[in-house]
Amino acid sequence: MKDYTKMNILELQANLSNLQERYNKFKSQRLNLDMQRGKPCPEQLDILNGLIDCLSSEEYRTLDGTDCRNYGPPAFLDGIPEAKELFSQMLEVSPKEIIIGGNSSLNLMHDTIARAMLKGVFGSEVPWGKLPKVKFLCPSPGYDRHFAICEFFGIEMIVVDMKCDGPDMDAVESLVAEDEEIKGIWCVPMYSNPQGITYSDKVVDRFARMKTKAADFRIFWDNAYCVHHLTDKPDRLKNILYACKDAGNPDRVFIFGSTSKISFPGAGVSMIAASESNINFIKKQMSVQTIGPDKINQLRHVKYFKNMEGIRAQMKKNAAVLKPKFDAVLEILERELGGTNVGWWNKPNGGYFISLDTLDGCAKRTVAMALEAGVAFTKAGATYPYGKDPRDRNIRIAPTYPPIEEIRKAIELLCICVQIAGIEKLIKEKESYV
Ligand code: PLP
Repeated sequence: MKDYTKMNILELQANLSNLQERYNKFKSQRLNLDMQRGKPCPEQLDILNGLIDCLSSEEYRTLDGTDCRNYGPPAFLDGIPEAKELFSQMLEVSPKEIIIGGNSSLNLMHDTIARAMLKGVFGSEVPWGKLPKVKFLCPSPGYDRHFAICEFFGIEMIVVDMKCDGPDMDAVESLVAEDEEIKGIWCVPMYSNPQGITYSDKVVDRFARMKTKAADFRIFWDNAYCVHHLTDKPDRLKNILYACKDAGNPDRVFIFGSTSKISFPGAGVSMIAASESNINFIKKQMSVQTIGPDKINQLRHVKYFKNMEGIRAQMKKNAAVLKPKFDAVLEILERELGGTNVGWWNKPNGGYFISLDTLDGCAKRTVAMALEAGVAFTKAGATYPYGKDPRDRNIRIAPTYPPIEEIRKAIELLCICVQIAGIEKLIKEKESYV
């Protein structure tokens, strides 16, 4: 394949006019495609319809006989026992180390930070919100809604680069060791959004052991994609809670998860896991906020999935729907961009996204051109705090929702735009040398 960075101006111009012709042909098709949505497609939801009607009107009791149609008992503030049993297995903690929440883990993350700002976390001497400044480390590219929570609470965000096995731990360790205002870090440790990276054991151990200037520092470990494998050789993630306990920092981590992309997004079950001290501290505060979560939905999920085997079987069905879509994206990226040196991407073993990097300074132009030709991609910059990608190069591809034929068209167009933006930049650079 042609390496554009090795071409002279004439060769680049010839390629550019060829690509512009292809671009114009796309434009004349008047496409109207949306590649922004990181959500399950209708086929994935259809194979889950049994979840809606798996409870009969006689089945509203937990194993211990509690009537889930009513409030309480207070002991179920943190979920019904069978849901705690099932989802503690999913997050690899004990049932005493988990709280089952409502329909959204993002909601739990938001509330966890809200409580920390108002009251502090277990062991805090001062509520975070009473301090002159609170900062969070944000490995980037990352999940825009994490960054939005920080922005909402006025928490200053510090970008940390992502490496192929997790965040740049040299940077993380030196920052948290020196700055007491750094109270937390966002992590999507498995099949990260958007790069699909799974943190290595070494990274997990460094997180568990690192010295933090803030005694009440917390890792926000959003394990949203913990069972979302796409291949038969899934990634493996070391258990952070146990690593923290081994390192003598048992209270360092809050783990989040949900069934949003296992069952129905927005109608699933969420969870937070942590040390027993953290969990008891949170439960006390939560008892003021709610009498308890939706027990019927928890019961429905337990009845439908039964056990971890049931969840794994469901995720295999999801993978059968999603893998051809991911493969289509990867095949077109390779065909169009392989060896060009104007585009680089990851090949994830799971999760919901593929991340594409353009030449520096070309992501915004690429996404704008694609939009002009009728295909909307996630806004360039969205994967960085404050919506500002310092190198303007990262684009998130969400292949799960659209039908495969739309994906093929959209990705081919995207690749054309990446090449046009890249070649334009290379020509400009060469012209400035002349
Ligand atoms: N965390 C990550 C990393 C996500 O990518 C998403 C959704 O895209 C969520 C959380 C949202 O989860 P929930 O629906 O449980 O709020």
